[in-house]
Amino acid sequence: MSTRILLIEDEHSVASVIRKALMEDQYEVSLAMDAASAWDHISRWSYDLFILDVMLPGGNGMDLCRKIRKEGIHTPVLMLTALGSVDNIVMGLDAGADDYLTKPFKIAELLARVRSLLRRASAATPGSIAYTSRVNVLVFSDITLNLDEKNAQRVGRVIELTATEFRLLEYLMKNPRKVLSRMDILEKVWGYDFNLNTKTVDVYINYLRKKLEEADGSRVIHTVVGMGYILKEE
Ligand code: CA
Repeated sequence: MSTRILLIEDEHSVASVIRKALMEDQYEVSLAMDAASAWDHISRWSYDLFILDVMLPGGNGMDLCRKIRKEGIHTPVLMLTALGSVDNIVMGLDAGADDYLTKPFKIAELLARVRSLLRRASAATPGSIAYTSRVNVLVFSDITLNLDEKNAQRVGRVIELTATEFRLLEYLMKNPRKVLSRMDILEKVWGYDFNLNTKTVDVYINYLRKKLEEADGSRVIHTVVGMGYILKEE
């Protein structure tokens, strides 16, 4: 039996690119372009996965996701958001989404997430935790930090971090677009007791930059001369 995916997306160009890619990978794809027709599909047919855009005419993807869960439907939900802020992603995960992608994304990345969600769902028995597990993830721009699994990814590429680098990135990602002094960083990441100086911070910031900028990632950790560092988009 083929795998059925309901794609809920109102932008024609995005919807057709996604649909084509999914069909090339042998998925059976239905398309709904607004919240009402999405609900019509959902209540009538059974699917293996929903791909759900947040901004929809006649409704909001978050509300739709909540409704799906409230009805006891455990089908995995991959949310698409153009909004990109941590708040929106957290809200989506709280609404019951299993994973999310921030637009713009690469189709290869979408296909990887789809495969991973379907794998998780088929490994789980209906109603088990795997469908509803909340992902404890920080997101900044195209970087994600999974606080449970202790790993970082940039555009789907896993970045190997040491424990210290992980704590440093976690601190930066919890304080985005804010200048953080070397002293702040030293205290928060290494703790008060360490007999270290702020040069340590510079060294680790450089390690982290190298890892984050491998494979052409843009610079996100910027130096603010005389003040410290700031995590922001270029
Ligand atoms: Ca939309």
